Amino acid sequence: MEVIGDPDSMSSWSRSVHRRGDTVGFVPTMGALHDGHRSLVTESTARCGATVVSIFVNPTQFDDRADFENYPTTLEADLDVCRAAGVDAVYLPSVEVMYPPGSSTTVDPGPIGAVLEGRHRPGHFTGVATVVVKLLGAVRPDVAYFGEKDFQQVAVLRRVVADLDLGVRIVALPTVREPDGLAMSSRNTRLDPAARDAATVIHRALLAGARSLRGARIAPADLIGAIESTLATEPLCRTDYVALVDPTTLVPWTGEGPVAALVAARFGDIRLIDNMVLSDWTGD
Ligand code: AMP
Repeated sequence: MEVIGDPDSMSSWSRSVHRRGDTVGFVPTMGALHDGHRSLVTESTARCGATVVSIFVNPTQFDDRADFENYPTTLEADLDVCRAAGVDAVYLPSVEVMYPPGSSTTVDPGPIGAVLEGRHRPGHFTGVATVVVKLLGAVRPDVAYFGEKDFQQVAVLRRVVADLDLGVRIVALPTVREPDGLAMSSRNTRLDPAARDAATVIHRALLAGARSLRGARIAPADLIGAIESTLATEPLCRTDYVALVDPTTLVPWTGEGPVAALVAARFGDIRLIDNMVLSDWTGD
């Protein structure tokens, strides 16, 4: 497994893979790898001739300095995960390589990045779009894999790739959860035991929403109410927002057609997000 630190070396590595007739699959991450990341890597190694994982904690997508500074880093363990998963190259640029003095271009994804997470975390999706465009420029993949856990991120990046003619196929894979339903996240390691327990309420609330929708017509406000009232049963949960949206466009759900529920909530100083396409739910 190669570890590559600059965009020129990354692109020439990728060109050599393409020259031998193979495809490049790409999994961008911020490290602290867990089974959610692993599922993306497994899909890429199964489908592509070569797989690149990037590990870069991108300062420009954090609106909260403390969140950036406390973001978990487990580089040696991450490299072991990548080796064990059959990754061919890890792209590991430094902040200085990504944002050298004088760099000034940013990518603004427009309205789709201004709502929900974008409204609660100003600048977040400009940071995400900019770093992903840079990573795609360095890695030059045929396919890039993302998790549905970051639901809006996938929608934003599909928009950016289409709008900028980037010609990479975006594949989104289902959220990997802990046995008790909590969506895996690098930030989960920073929850204290009480908050870790409490955080399962997010998934329970999404399930409550899915059950309320099943087989019944329900007004958007009542469906939001079903989710919020479950969140409210957990005293350690401070809800940032509950939103119902069209799963593709992210416009607010009107009560007709498919619907995704997106939740952001804080447990102590850790902010978590999760979602579910309620209209696809086929559980009990
Ligand atoms: P991150 O390292 O948090 O930036 O995530 C890197 C990629 O892994 C993103 O595409 C995430 O959506 C995805 N990811 C994070 N957590 C999960 C999860 N629990 N299940 C599936 N994918 C995930």
